[in-house]
Amino acid sequence: MASNYVKDLLAEVKAKNPAEPEFHQAATEVLDSLDLAIQRRPEYRKNKIVERVLEPERVIMFRVSWLDDQGNVQVNRGFRIEMNSAIGPYKGGLRFHPSVNLGILKFLAFEQVFKNSLTTLPMGGGKGGSDFDPKGKSDMEVMKFCQSFMSELWRHIGPNTDVPAGDIGVGGREIGYMFGQYKRLRNEFTGVLTGKGLNWGGSLIRPEATGYGATYFAAEMLKTRGESLEGKTCLVSGSGNVAQYTVQKINDLGGRAVTVSDSGGYIYDEKGIDAEKLAFLMELKNVRRGRIKEYADKFKGVVYTAIDPKADFNPLWNHTAHCAFPSATQNEINAKDAQNLVKNGVYVVSEGANMPTTIDGVNIFLEHKILYGPGKAANAGGVATSGLEMSQNSLRLSWTREEVDQRLHGIMKAIHKAAYETSVAFGCPGNYVNGANIAGFLKVADAMMDQGLV
Ligand code: NAP
Repeated sequence: MASNYVKDLLAEVKAKNPAEPEFHQAATEVLDSLDLAIQRRPEYRKNKIVERVLEPERVIMFRVSWLDDQGNVQVNRGFRIEMNSAIGPYKGGLRFHPSVNLGILKFLAFEQVFKNSLTTLPMGGGKGGSDFDPKGKSDMEVMKFCQSFMSELWRHIGPNTDVPAGDIGVGGREIGYMFGQYKRLRNEFTGVLTGKGLNWGGSLIRPEATGYGATYFAAEMLKTRGESLEGKTCLVSGSGNVAQYTVQKINDLGGRAVTVSDSGGYIYDEKGIDAEKLAFLMELKNVRRGRIKEYADKFKGVVYTAIDPKADFNPLWNHTAHCAFPSATQNEINAKDAQNLVKNGVYVVSEGANMPTTIDGVNIFLEHKILYGPGKAANAGGVATSGLEMSQNSLRLSWTREEVDQRLHGIMKAIHKAAYETSVAFGCPGNYVNGANIAGFLKVADAMMDQGLV
């Protein structure tokens, strides 16, 4: 039961930030956990640390005009939310998707603050993007959009100020075009973006990092019960960057991934998405930019189910399995989906996506005491490896694949340990939601106290 202080704060957040339901949702989830910490540390309340954490340090919103291949003028909206810089430069991805708006980016930036703190690396939190949809656009159009977007963003970012990365709709191609434009405008070759190409400052393992990290996190949770991923059947959603490398690491660790999806539908492959099928999937999604249905056309015995927009549940989450790795987008698991997962034997959920489970869904996982790793802990491997890319850029060195993977693995273990031990210290052992929120918050809150009223 939330205290009156938290209830009043949430009411204020809703009144002050109308029409931002995702931001309200993220704030509610985090503040419910922080209640425990605030009660023990009254100085946070006196210094209005939570009120300050809820308010972005800066919001930048701008027009992005560009010419499409037919010579028509197109106008999109660009954003960068610089949420909190108490422990390092703002850091967080850019999302290009038609659903992008201020509230979605504020929820992502808010989550990013705690996630980055958990990584043990010195990174503040930010997020940005645009309502531009790269789907169906030519490479030329994507380049023109990225150049126009960066023509405004460049003046707000820098390797010691704000270091964006990729997210939905922003992969190696988009980072390349944006880096090129930044370099031209600034006349400076510097680590201002992460997720760069390998021969111009990128880090090995960065593309793999979020999916690998979410799988390492699941393995750590299983270890607390003396188990491993060996022989486990896994449901994965999405088929982009995070989903692809989640499937790869599940295979490496002896598990079997049986589903992947896109916004059109999902495939169920009972035999498992092995290395050969994954190579097909990567070519389909990263090179041909095709639809997931083609996977079912290509391989025998695979069932494709199209999304039914009228349905109140997602059939992807209604298969017998041990583990689930939501890796597509926010709120893709509702209460009914969570019930279905638990009913079908799933007892490990490791969130590759950001806030993929609604608050009611999370409560079902917590009630059933399954191993539930919330996004800000489970998917922190991506930003952690971005942090490693920043270190390599500063050192002007490139670490080997093994070295980066080892560091990533070490960081995921450290995040798991911090979240688990904090859950114990605050009287809710195994509740990774409280553990991750509180552990991430304490470091940021103490830094804010040290730095005075800014
Ligand atoms: P991505 O490569 O663009 O792939 C996104 C996947 O999710 C695609 O298969 C896409 O299908 C599907 N999807 C997106 N929006 C959807 C919607 N509204 N309904 C159904 N399916 C949808 O993006 P990503 O980098 O893998 O990111 C996936 C999730 O992980 C996001 O929540 C992101 O914030 C989170 N995340 C990413 C990173 C990272 O390093 N990339 C790090 C931490 C967290 P379509 O192609 O049909 O749209």
